[in-house]
Amino acid sequence: MKTIEVNVGGVLIGGSNPVVVQTMCNTHTDDVAATVAQCRELSLAGAQLVRITVPGRQNVAQVRAIHDELRAGGILTPLVADIHFSSETAIEVAPFVEKVRINPGNFHPDHTQACLQFRRLIGVCKEYGTAIRIGLNHGSLGTYITNLYGNTPYAMAKAAMEWIRICREEDFRKVVVSLKSSNTVTMVNAYRELAKMETAEFGEVFPFHVGVTEAGNADSGRIKSCVGISTLLQEGIGDTIRVSLTEPPVNELQPAFFIARFSPGKTEHTSLLGAACHWGPKLLNREIDEIPSDAGIGQYLADEIMQAARRRFYRPEYIACPGCGRTMYDLQAAFEEVKARTAHLNNIVIAVMGCIVNGPGEMADADWGYVGEGAGKVSIYKKNVPVLRHVPQEEAVDKLLELIEGKQ
Ligand code: SF4
Repeated sequence: MKTIEVNVGGVLIGGSNPVVVQTMCNTHTDDVAATVAQCRELSLAGAQLVRITVPGRQNVAQVRAIHDELRAGGILTPLVADIHFSSETAIEVAPFVEKVRINPGNFHPDHTQACLQFRRLIGVCKEYGTAIRIGLNHGSLGTYITNLYGNTPYAMAKAAMEWIRICREEDFRKVVVSLKSSNTVTMVNAYRELAKMETAEFGEVFPFHVGVTEAGNADSGRIKSCVGISTLLQEGIGDTIRVSLTEPPVNELQPAFFIARFSPGKTEHTSLLGAACHWGPKLLNREIDEIPSDAGIGQYLADEIMQAARRRFYRPEYIACPGCGRTMYDLQAAFEEVKARTAHLNNIVIAVMGCIVNGPGEMADADWGYVGEGAGKVSIYKKNVPVLRHVPQEEAVDKLLELIEGKQ
């Protein structure tokens, strides 16, 4: 597979370059000092790209200030603006960052309008040398695509192809593409589909940004990321990666570098990360049905890898976003509490999401959702329907459990 090389502010992604590791701030972008401090921390810890949330046009001046302050302080790590929905925000911020991350399918409910807005953004990015990540997540595809193909890996790849064709028509080559899901099988299949489609049509692919979104935290978040990302890297798909954890962002870098450098047969495979990178792809690809009992990794780790590869579920499946500048409550603490109090359940998928803007769309196939609304309030979802709104955070886990146990 031939991959185009993309230069993002001096960092080369794709071609024959090593996998680039990136992460994302969870500060509020309007707190410029805190965001500058976190970007600096992440950069000094090795992050090769750092993404920040840009909720709206009102934040563009802050992004510019963050960028300027970092450069003045000698931090040259490229910045990526994370935008949902608003093409105007993307267009306005593009001159001040090295890359913008967008899902053009969410720019406008009318597909023709969304295409026009995307072309305008490409024009600005061409002028300023800004790269674009076309970032499509399972669960937040545009209605145009889901009406045609459902919410499947095939639909994700088809959606990406629409935007890739527009980039090609506009002769715009600074493009990176991601197709994330919290479900490792869905995510792996989506990237594979796209690699096939793109190669068949153009003979080459734009670089892939690979990640398991809403992977959660602690061991299970790391293991899920190893299983999904490593499966793709081992077959040559993936040029930049992010491990998304519901933890301080700096914690994402160590597992990400481990996965980026993992080499089957050469890297050890009895540690938590090593075992997940080694056994996960074999399970996910159905080359084996069980981890051998003499693998030397213990039952707990074997169970976790089996669950991350979606081969056997021995505890609830959790989906939790990492949080970002849109999060207005203590997401990490809430997720820990939800996990602790639901650990006895089985055959259930529970999502804990940082914001009401993107959370409900992104929690995809969760049975229950705990979604932050803003200042200390939570909405509780059953599937994708809100069943309780404006619940004070201190009561929300009780309410969630009552609902799950059928007491409400
Ligand atoms: S779902 Fe989580 S990571 Fe995504 S935008 Fe909302 S708070 Fe940020």
